[in-house]
Amino acid sequence: MLLPMRSTIADYWRRESPLGLMLDYDGTLTPIVPDPTQAFLPPAGWELLLKLCRHPWIRVAIVSGRSVSQLRFFLSALTGEAITLCGLHGGEIYVPQKDHFLRQPNREQLQQQLQPLREKVIAQLTAANLLNSGIFLEDKTYSLAVHYRQVEASVKPQIIELLYGLFTHDTELTAPFKLQPGKEVLEVLPRTFDKGDCVVFLWDFWQLRQGCYIGDDVTDEAAFVAVNQRGGLTIAVGKTPGTTQAQHICSEVGDVYRELAALASQSKS
Ligand SMILES: [Mg+2]
Repeated sequence: MLLPMRSTIADYWRRESPLGLMLDYDGTLTPIVPDPTQAFLPPAGWELLLKLCRHPWIRVAIVSGRSVSQLRFFLSALTGEAITLCGLHGGEIYVPQKDHFLRQPNREQLQQQLQPLREKVIAQLTAANLLNSGIFLEDKTYSLAVHYRQVEASVKPQIIELLYGLFTHDTELTAPFKLQPGKEVLEVLPRTFDKGDCVVFLWDFWQLRQGCYIGDDVTDEAAFVAVNQRGGLTIAVGKTPGTTQAQHICSEVGDVYRELAALASQSKS
């Protein structure tokens, strides 16, 4: 006799109340790729996410540093499905089914504040001869991501030092923003964009009693803390013990899909 697949999430969920499934995108649902514009979902991912978001007792959200418009592009095959897209670390929250934003940042104000800071970052990188070092500046409308994945290892510390130096010395210009480290990226981000704050919003909005958050990056730590505080389940991808607030660790994206597959197979409505 075949035993049903077990998983940490399926074991956690008591099925007395809806399960909130909150998932980071890059490094959690897709492997990290050198070119961030090519982070497509693996084919098996579509079917699984579709199955999970059609389940009447599972609420699915993607919680990413990407913008909602980027998430809509990468997840276009799920258009019209019940999947909440939280972009910009929760700075914007979009419900595609209703074509409705639950949360939107003050675009004009933030852009006005970001523009002079962006110019200063570029000027300092240029002055330090770092602008052509392989840096990729990603303009995200409300934030500026400085990717240094393709920069020579010996040069990376200079870039990091330059950005932190700017935030230390120019406190007036940088006041509305924080420097958020990620995997081979430093993001100049409005202080109000925070994954911990985002999952608290979802938890209340969905009126959850049970929820699970899966993520792989430094930015996910705030979400782990918030979900832990609410008695939820947290899983970190590719972390080592002692480096994360998550309760469980899995080693790779494939493990996330095995978890989700097990949950989907046990979640017959
Ligand atoms: Mg990630």
